Amino acid sequence: MAIQRARAGLDELLAAKRALPFQVLTGGDAAFLERHDAFVFDCDGVLYSGSELLDGAAAAVAALRSAGKRCLFVTNNSGKSRLTMAVKLGALGLAATPEECVPASFATAAALAARGVTRAFVVGADGLSEELELAGVEVLKAGATTEPFSEAAFERVALEGEPVGAVVVGMDATCDLRTLALASLHLQRDERCLFASTNPDAFDVVGGRRMPGNGALVAALATASGRGAPDLTCGKPAPALAESLVSTFGLDPARTVVVGDRVDTDMALASRMGCAGLLVLTGCATAADAAALAPGCATTFVTSHLGALAGPGALVGEPSTAAPDTVDGVLDALHAAAARADADAYLDLVSSDFVFLGTDAAERWDRAAFEAYARGRFEKGNGWAYEVVSRRSTARGDVVFFDEDLANANLGACRSTGVLVRDGGGLKVAQYSLSVPIPNALCLDVVRQIRARD
Ligand SMILES: [Mg+2]
Repeated sequence: MAIQRARAGLDELLAAKRALPFQVLTGGDAAFLERHDAFVFDCDGVLYSGSELLDGAAAAVAALRSAGKRCLFVTNNSGKSRLTMAVKLGALGLAATPEECVPASFATAAALAARGVTRAFVVGADGLSEELELAGVEVLKAGATTEPFSEAAFERVALEGEPVGAVVVGMDATCDLRTLALASLHLQRDERCLFASTNPDAFDVVGGRRMPGNGALVAALATASGRGAPDLTCGKPAPALAESLVSTFGLDPARTVVVGDRVDTDMALASRMGCAGLLVLTGCATAADAAALAPGCATTFVTSHLGALAGPGALVGEPSTAAPDTVDGVLDALHAAAARADADAYLDLVSSDFVFLGTDAAERWDRAAFEAYARGRFEKGNGWAYEVVSRRSTARGDVVFFDEDLANANLGACRSTGVLVRDGGGLKVAQYSLSVPIPNALCLDVVRQIRARD
């Protein structure tokens, strides 16, 4: 939905044929890719929306990596640590190491440690506490209570022990008035106490509407405490973060592009890093926002969705650019037919002795059983969409063996293996096996769960 909306908006902008202060990327832009070696990605609204991978995003990142481009993931989400952020990206089919991830939690912990803060009162989720503790900062939190917040309860609050060196505010879905009151008291108790914000984002766009972000919590505390704006804002587009990204990762700003969905944070970061900015329209910024950009702004490029970087074939369900009677042509067409719930097109691509192996232990279907299942499901309009992240194949005469890394909105990273054969002159899928790879660290747990179920 986000992609359709973005593409319609951008098409309208292009149809107006007015001069724009940026270049519009529509797919397969070779010069753009040749000009840049490093891609600094924002995450929510660019790679995924909430917990759902955006179509084409995994293929775009995979295409950049296979072209030798450096990919970094920099988010103003402070709720995750570098490790849990890498785990989330991996589960969505966007393999990344913790070292490639820079969440606002990590940027904030580094900024506080650099200022000698050793103890902080924290409004925020677990990832923020984890990164602060890793940086040597003791974390104090409001703690749980069932007592309703009232004037009487407020009067009983006593701040014990040494004062804290900082009050840190990151997005916290459980933040209540009592937490705000405690944070405010710490700021009132000692005027030297640093008021730090993990990021300035006022809102996120969810389902086309604004959901309050960390900026809203920070504004509430700024008002309640009387301290005004925070002393320190650490996430994008903080100058310290911009400098740190360039120096830590050895980036050449002339060959780096920041990819984001917000003008006020992502594109501003590009400006402070001295590099190009690519605004995608699948998150906060709309085509109307892009149209309002002034000449000379940090936004050098605009595209509807990240999948455009991998070419027009990257979108699930779109026509493949590969020749029809090739391994890529047949498998791309198979995925496209499944995504649009087209039973005739799907079954035309498989052999008469086709076998499908599904993710469930009981799913080994011959052609007749699979056809009954697929037709019943497709007739209700229920297809299945798997984005191809990468594919390999090898031929032995008229037989081709293949495997694919896939991404699916529900299952995350998946894998297929299978066989194609020459059948009646055309290349047909004779076997397709879909699986969800289990990390070795979880394998014994999963086995135990299966045994307990049996
Ligand atoms: Mg974003």
